[in-house]
Amino acid sequence: MSQTTMPLAGKVALITGGSRGIGAAICKRLASSGANIVLTYANSAESANNVVQACQSHKVSAKAIQADVGNVEANRKVVEQVVQDSGQIDILVNNAAIFPVIDLFEVTEKGFDESLNINQRGVFFLTQAAAKQMPKGGRIINIGSIFGESVPYPNLSLYSMTKFAVAGLTRAWARDLAARGITVNCIQPGPIHTDLNPEDSELAKVLLPRSPVGRYGRVEEIAEMVAYLVGPNTDNVTGAIINNDGGWNA
Ligand code: NDP
Repeated sequence: MSQTTMPLAGKVALITGGSRGIGAAICKRLASSGANIVLTYANSAESANNVVQACQSHKVSAKAIQADVGNVEANRKVVEQVVQDSGQIDILVNNAAIFPVIDLFEVTEKGFDESLNINQRGVFFLTQAAAKQMPKGGRIINIGSIFGESVPYPNLSLYSMTKFAVAGLTRAWARDLAARGITVNCIQPGPIHTDLNPEDSELAKVLLPRSPVGRYGRVEEIAEMVAYLVGPNTDNVTGAIINNDGGWNA
């Protein structure tokens, strides 16, 4: 295969939360460009194995590791394992997250810590560990949210707190890692049809009227944007926060 059809041939990509939804689509899309895939998941072993098999059908290596992204030690072990198996990490996609929607006055310290650990602390320390192992040309993609740019509804304080941080970290790390030849970018999806936000839910009835294009996005649309940003021709794109939201936040 030529470099045009397999631009990620030989690269090693680590994707958190690759068992379902957007993460699963990213795994399959990067595998289709030749990347070897390591995905993490929390509970869905069967779904994770299905994604591994789908990736392997592209003649790349693929592996699933159960690891709570909110656990710093577990993240460190994932990085160790990937380096032991593959020698390096070329691409990191910080995708796994939870979506707490809760009244401000109902927030407990436990809920606060859970959101912070999974959506923010995990992203921070996994990136710190993985970036050390990245060669020049490394790529980090953070999956943020349009709720990390505006907060048009109540009850989003926990989620928005973490997704604003993801956007901020993207900018900070673009500065920190440029000297190493590593780019860091953030994709902010609008409503995307997944288990987290099904297009036929009560939430969808609230979200859809704000969308200029009038539809939910597809996981493949986010995966396509990731494939572009981790490709070989984007050395000059870093610190960018790019919405894929059908104009939702316009
Ligand atoms: P899903 O809930 O469909 O999938 C979440 C994935 O993350 C699953 O693979 C899940 O694993 C994994 N995961 C959850 N918690 C953990 C954890 N503690 N440790 C490891 N893995 C974990 O989510 P989406 O695909 O919809 O969302 C993916 C990303 O996109 C998130 O960052 C989300 O905030 C963002 N996003 C999504 C939008 C949407 O409308 N869908 C809109 C804007 C942003 P398991 O299967 O084992 O549970």
